[in-house]
Amino acid sequence: MPKHCQECKSELSSGQIRCGQCGLIQEEFVYKSRVAAATLAIVAGMFGLHRFYLGKWWGVFYLLFFWTYIPALIGLIEGIVFLATDQKNWNAKYNQGLSAGSERGGVVIFVLFLPMFAVFGILAAVAIPAYHDYTLRTKVVAAHAEAKAIIPLVEEFAFENERWPMTEDLQLPALNNPLLAERRVEEGDIIINMAKDTGISGSFIYQSNSTNTGIKWSCAESTIEAKYLPQECRQ
Ligand SMILES: [Zn+2]
Repeated sequence: MPKHCQECKSELSSGQIRCGQCGLIQEEFVYKSRVAAATLAIVAGMFGLHRFYLGKWWGVFYLLFFWTYIPALIGLIEGIVFLATDQKNWNAKYNQGLSAGSERGGVVIFVLFLPMFAVFGILAAVAIPAYHDYTLRTKVVAAHAEAKAIIPLVEEFAFENERWPMTEDLQLPALNNPLLAERRVEEGDIIINMAKDTGISGSFIYQSNSTNTGIKWSCAESTIEAKYLPQECRQ
């Protein structure tokens, strides 16, 4: 049964919502909002809600495949495309050229992406200091390795001379690690200072202690901040 204009009763073709004779917009016309479609696409695109909203039955494919996450990605992209679409082009495509005034999509971007920015901000606030600490720890590893390399020299000297060596008693290999500024041996204790530009203050200290079973080494007396020290040196 052909439809007729609610005003002038002239015949309308199927789907026609604006009368060609008197120009009346028929009551069944539902305006499809660009911003609403974009919001649905971004928030619930994985279920195809934006497609159902726009009267497209094939939103069901989004629903069927939502578990692959691909519909969610497509929805997100479509939402951004909707927001970037010119209102006039939108109306031509989804509203038979009829307008409901201009829609502002900027607020959608702001509201939807604000939590995302917040999450990134929080992650950055946690990750950046953690990464900073991590890089400093890797630098202290250099001091640890340098000290370990000196241990056999100290032990050898102590066994041969029956006293603890000072720096000048030992023939230390050249210090060629730019992370390390100073290296000395005091009464058998090995003390290493990091270069200033590493941002690490304090000393890495390996203390020598003679016991019944030989020399025991401890780095627990190091004055570098504990969180930068290797696990075995933390008290
Ligand atoms: Zn009419």
